[in-house]
Amino acid sequence: MAWQAQRFLLTDVASGLWLTIKYLFRPKITVNYPFEQSPLSSRFRGEHALRRYASGEERCIACKLCEAICPAQAIVIEAEPRDDGSRRTTRYDIDMTKCIYCGYCQEACPVDAIVEGPNQTWATETREELFYDKERLLANGDRWEAEIAKNLVTNAPYV
Ligand code: SF4
Ligand code: SF4
Repeated sequence: MAWQAQRFLLTDVASGLWLTIKYLFRPKITVNYPFEQSPLSSRFRGEHALRRYASGEERCIACKLCEAICPAQAIVIEAEPRDDGSRRTTRYDIDMTKCIYCGYCQEACPVDAIVEGPNQTWATETREELFYDKERLLANGDRWEAEIAKNLVTNAPYV
């Protein structure tokens, strides 16, 4: 007879209402995105960036390890030697529509040039805007360098 009493007394409704009232006064776990953002791990794999040294020189030495390891074949690099004999890229493209954010390119890079930075908001209206070139990637590096450098130091013991 217990279920008949439960139905008659609407105990399920009462317990549901009690749960609602209980959570009404607790701190909210939702955030008002994009005006608020939840904290990001220092290991978050966000939008790609190409970094420079403090002198302004590009870190990338055009070894193409990132291009070789990319499982999505999203990276295309062309390179040639400069007048001073150093080797640098003349083209560095990432097709962000192919990228699966695995982080292999970052792990393969011997000079910490290509990284996945902390930016998580780069939605676009067209596919073409997601075809990143070297200029765009270097601009990302310049913009996020402080956070990227800090995250690399934080994660160094775990690499
Ligand atoms: S994160 Fe992975 S899929 Fe994306 S470019 Fe790097 S290696 Fe390729
Ligand atoms: S980003 Fe790093 S791995 Fe890729 S070509 Fe440049 S130096 Fe090599």
